[in-house]
Amino acid sequence: MIYDNIVVGAGYGGLTAAALLAKAGQKVLLLEAHTVPGGCASFYNRKGILFDSGATTLSGMAEGQPMNKLFKELEIEPNVKKLDPGMIIKFGDRELVRHSGLEHWIIECEQFFGLKGIREFWELVHSIDKKGYKLIAQNKRIPPVSAGDLLSLVKPSNLKGLPLLPYLFKPVEAVLKKFGLSDDPLFRSFIDEQLLITTQNRADDAPFLTAAMGLAYPAETYYPYGGLFFPAKQIEKRFKDFGGTVKYKKRVKAIKKEKERYKITTDDGSEYVCNGVITNIPFWNLSAITEGELKEYFIKVAPKTDGAWGAFMINFAINCDRKEDLKSVYWQIHVPEEVPYCESKSFFVTISPEDDTQKAPEGVKSITISLHTKSENWYGLTKEEYIRRKNETGNFIVQKFDEAFPALAGFEKSHVEYGTPVTFEKYTGRFSGLVGGVPHSVKNNLLKMHSGVTPFNGFYLTGDTVFPGQGTVAVTIGASNLVARILDKR
Ligand SMILES: Cc1cc2nc3c(=O)[nH]c(=O)nc-3n(C[C@H](O)[C@H](O)[C@H](O)COP(=O)(O)OP(=O)(O)OC[C@H]3O[C@@H](n4cnc5c(N)ncnc54)[C@H](O)[C@@H]3O)c2cc1C
Repeated sequence: MIYDNIVVGAGYGGLTAAALLAKAGQKVLLLEAHTVPGGCASFYNRKGILFDSGATTLSGMAEGQPMNKLFKELEIEPNVKKLDPGMIIKFGDRELVRHSGLEHWIIECEQFFGLKGIREFWELVHSIDKKGYKLIAQNKRIPPVSAGDLLSLVKPSNLKGLPLLPYLFKPVEAVLKKFGLSDDPLFRSFIDEQLLITTQNRADDAPFLTAAMGLAYPAETYYPYGGLFFPAKQIEKRFKDFGGTVKYKKRVKAIKKEKERYKITTDDGSEYVCNGVITNIPFWNLSAITEGELKEYFIKVAPKTDGAWGAFMINFAINCDRKEDLKSVYWQIHVPEEVPYCESKSFFVTISPEDDTQKAPEGVKSITISLHTKSENWYGLTKEEYIRRKNETGNFIVQKFDEAFPALAGFEKSHVEYGTPVTFEKYTGRFSGLVGGVPHSVKNNLLKMHSGVTPFNGFYLTGDTVFPGQGTVAVTIGASNLVARILDKR
């Protein structure tokens, strides 16, 4: 059988592309190395308790936003709830509550930091966020790769987006300065750590346009019951309903161009032929599975890895023996010193709510903690040194967790597991365990990102190392735009 398209990888990017193409009537095969879909937004099961393997928050769900549109298009009703507050940020004993409503949030922020300029800053953040989403929604051909794409950008509705352009080249720091907010160490550290979990960069180098969309996200945060794996599983189901075929435990080890077609070989020796291929794996992995001119191209244009991040993960369960919810599901805990072997002064905590019995039985909380680390901290070590570092980092964070949540600290923790970039590479195949895509920076801004299109007819890219970057929402935008292009071409 010759497939119209073969999608390599069942992360959110690959699933979206596969489902939309199958819905349009294409013969699509989805090949995934792991045993389940979801990639960085997947899960694992320990005695009936589900643990997130990476991503936990769902956003872009407001009317007209990308996830909302995708679920409507695929007629999926994800089991989610909107959270207000979207997140609580802890600095020692002090709590900053990230309310969903803008006015409520501004008042909270003003009272917490006691700084002038806060209102103007957040009003600008939210106005840019709104305009940014609008601009993305009305332009499916960005970044432009042809004269036709450029022409498609010339339309009256884009005029309103023009004032956003300078913010692509302006770091957040410049905007903070304008509002007199750049020198307050606490506010600065708050902004830096919030930016790190969204743009993967800090205020001095994160472009304000993408940063604003990241800083605004906790206003629209949704909790997916069971974890982010479940909406992924629903997308996979729709893909199959539309006639798509998915094969698990199929690691693609070679993609070869043969005249106008592609031959794909998996690690068990199976071979598949298609007219088009869409890879959902990081850019950095592509040269290892391609040959000839394909390989040369992917080596030449791969983004640099030096700015990219890895993640340190902690999962455990707490049996509280009672029904009790904390004030939020999502927490960012700031600590005064850098966490050992992690270039981060905060960690992100997800605590399953009591009504999520899909994730953990009543009275039990499934907890996921993640933070940024450089991949090189974890490679090239002896086994003993790797384990020592892993335990030092994990134990440090668990201790800080206990200090931040005294009400939970007294209960026994079970299924405690620590993960590093090495773990991510093992389970997702991502080169050097690099996750979260290519950090947005002033120099490497959105427009510099590689699009989903390559110079090779029928060879396309999706996922968080191509435009518009990291996060389930961003990869969904990238994949949806790509499908629109492929179908237009047909
Ligand atoms: C710790 C952490 C927390 C995060 N938190 C959030 C969050 O709260 N909200 C959010 O929206 N985003 C979050 N993100 C980012 C988000 O998870 C990712 O950007 C997004 O899930 C990436 O999706 P993807 O489709 O690009 O690829 P991936 O999720 O990496 O999926 C790629 C898939 O390809 C498969 N694969 C790899 N190589 C091969 C091969 N050779 N053959 C076949 N299959 C292969 C892998 O097994 C995997 O399933 C977080 C990321 C991390 C690491």
